[in-house]
Amino acid sequence: MSVYAQSKNNTKPFIVVLDAGHGGKDPGRPTSYGYKEKDIVLDITLMVGKNLEDNEGIEVIYTRDSDVFLELRERASIANKADADLFVSIHCNAHNSQAHGTETFVLGLHRNESNFRIAKQENEVIFLEEDYEANYEGFDPSSAESIIGLTLLQEDYLDQSILLASKIQKNFTENLKRKNRGVKQAGFWVLHNTYMPSVLVETGFITNKKEGDYLNSSKGKTEISKSISEAILSYFLSLNGVSVNNIKSEEKNLNNEIKFKVQIAASSKKIRLKSHNFKGLSSLSREKYGKIYRYLYGETKNYSSALKMQEEAVFLGYKDSFIVAYEKNERIPIEKALKTKTK
Ligand SMILES: [Zn+2]
Repeated sequence: MSVYAQSKNNTKPFIVVLDAGHGGKDPGRPTSYGYKEKDIVLDITLMVGKNLEDNEGIEVIYTRDSDVFLELRERASIANKADADLFVSIHCNAHNSQAHGTETFVLGLHRNESNFRIAKQENEVIFLEEDYEANYEGFDPSSAESIIGLTLLQEDYLDQSILLASKIQKNFTENLKRKNRGVKQAGFWVLHNTYMPSVLVETGFITNKKEGDYLNSSKGKTEISKSISEAILSYFLSLNGVSVNNIKSEEKNLNNEIKFKVQIAASSKKIRLKSHNFKGLSSLSREKYGKIYRYLYGETKNYSSALKMQEEAVFLGYKDSFIVAYEKNERIPIEKALKTKTK
């Protein structure tokens, strides 16, 4: 049996971690209308999970499924331990004005711009994906290096996080006619600490009487949860569907400027490209990104071949390896590459 065939048999489900914000002694945002964020988001989250569980190939894990208190660290840790493919944190917004509307956040770098620069200069942050557990244990939230290390890591998932966030906002806006406040970036702690595509959804303002009424109603909860689960499903299908489309279009693919590689590791250390340094993998390449070296395996014009290479890398122990795309030797978002190729 080939390496590829063996790893194929171990295909794990697509794991979605759903995180209902707050809970227990932490009720969430204050409101004068009596709505409780922790209760509303728990209902929505459980409904999202129920919608998703009906789909083959998807496994749902809840950070909480009852009214209990959880630390932020525990939420991220649940997702990381499960080796989840997606982390979705669900909240309600609040403001002392009558602001309303929905917004979805992905991790932003800009808040830590100066820390980021310093940490990059000092760069003692080493993160080899396969050693990630060890790094996480040493995580110190007050240390810029710790945060930056994770930020760099999460940055690799930014395109995917934005893709999901856009789908969620699109559903809220087009299907539910909610006011669209957009996809935004901010330094949410819980997003800093997950190592998979992650978003935080603000489903609306419970400090706005009308929107609070809606969010607290069973109609509102049903509609909001449907929008979120359909966006997650669409994201899941796009990840799995592209390979099928691509196999079909492979033969007639004339755009040979797009190519794919598999990123297996990143480190501040310059490691020699010898296969014994990389679990026996050959056709290795290295590229510099700031003070970090990215280590890549293989090179192909076919996305389906890239998927096979990724499975091989995963099988050999690079379980967090992922496919990256290039156009004219410039790295581009994977979605853009696939769009260009399947045009
Ligand atoms: Zn919240």
